[in-house]
Amino acid sequence: MQLTDADTVGHPVLDALDGADCSFCEEGVLVRDSYHGNAAVICDDCHTPGAQVW
Ligand SMILES: [Zn+2]
Repeated sequence: MQLTDADTVGHPVLDALDGADCSFCEEGVLVRDSYHGNAAVICDDCHTPGAQVW
């Protein structure tokens, strides 16, 4: 599993974007998720990935 405390600390960009307004739609909010198996923030409305970390 990748969702450890150390993994979270290692992704300050995701921490910064978690809960931010989506840039691509009016209603969406970015939430922490995985995208193609990588840690990412994804809009909960249009599902556009805001950032991902490899
Ligand atoms: Zn969106």
